[in-house]
Amino acid sequence: MAVPFFDLTRQFTRLRPALLPELEALLQSGDYAQGSAVALFEEEFARAHDLPHCVAVGSGTDALHAIFMALGLKPGDEAVTVAHTFAATPEAVALTGAAPVFADVLPGTLTMDPRSLERAITPRTRVVVPVHLYGHPAAMGAILEIASARGIPVVEDACQAHGAQLQGRSVGGFGAAAAFSFYPSKNIGAFGEGGAVLTRDGDLAAAVRAIRNHGQTVRHRHDRPGHNYRMDNLQGAVLAHKVRYLEEWTLRRRALAALYASLLEGTDDLQLPREAPGARHVYHLYVVRTPRRDQLRSFLEERGIGTGLHYPVPCHRQPAFASAAVAGGGLPVTEAASTEVLSLPMFPELTDEEVGTVAGTVREFFGRAS
Ligand SMILES: *Cc1c(COP(=O)(O)O)cnc(C)c1O
Repeated sequence: MAVPFFDLTRQFTRLRPALLPELEALLQSGDYAQGSAVALFEEEFARAHDLPHCVAVGSGTDALHAIFMALGLKPGDEAVTVAHTFAATPEAVALTGAAPVFADVLPGTLTMDPRSLERAITPRTRVVVPVHLYGHPAAMGAILEIASARGIPVVEDACQAHGAQLQGRSVGGFGAAAAFSFYPSKNIGAFGEGGAVLTRDGDLAAAVRAIRNHGQTVRHRHDRPGHNYRMDNLQGAVLAHKVRYLEEWTLRRRALAALYASLLEGTDDLQLPREAPGARHVYHLYVVRTPRRDQLRSFLEERGIGTGLHYPVPCHRQPAFASAAVAGGGLPVTEAASTEVLSLPMFPELTDEEVGTVAGTVREFFGRAS
């Protein structure tokens, strides 16, 4: 049985009967630019994370860039982030003219290593940007302690972590602000592009709100140069509809992860994703590690099982960021992870039977090779 890495059509088929009439009514209303559906979505998404302010934008990259603009990042400033992430994280820093500086990640969760962060901070550091990678929250306690001792704000890249929690608190509320993405494959996906900023800080929310709409605070008054980072209303309607399913889909992802773990535990040479104490992983991706990653990937692909690599080339090895500074001690964990990580199929509509097929094929690979 072939198993796709991802299949967005299954979800659409389920949502279609209730969703299409809503979208049709919106199209008939003529309310196309950022409008009432976006406002409704902002309320619901903020509530889902128990936070007071949500500003919807055009993408996760827009969300990061708008936050960095609102914080006043500029040439000469530095932002400490990780290299084991999607390129949009350091890219949004670079768009302000500031320089990304890369810290290493922890071997267990592959999120920012607080000790490496300490070594990456300089007098020019203006922001720290941990990434809740794969849906697992970064070590926010230690990161916040280090950053706040120096008066440096923390911005969470939560683009993969809708609904993830630490000590019972949702991500998005730990730092000054957080960026979320609604790229179609994320835990809530638009029918195109979408993003959002969550924050507790009303002034920061107001600044991001202005930046998203050409720096306007009131109509015809442009206080600062901004962008067109508005979310269109059709995406707002799709997302307001889908956000109701976030908890159900998250529980399903966690159940699938538990099933994978029960079927794969004890496989030599295969490291399964771990949940740190107090963390609630939302499994945007189910990422295993093995030194024989490329062989395992070929074996699965030959048998019709889709896989992904997140990420095979760390950001400091990308031409765009090759001149960026890295933390003292280098990035050995990042380097090793990039050659060993493999993402297995993970989406709420995946069946238990499909997980069984994937796990059985993974076991077959290791059984043969050993
Ligand atoms: C998806 C993603 C982004 C960018 O979001 P877009 O909506 O694609 O712009 C940023 N950071 C991380 C970690 C992501 O996974």
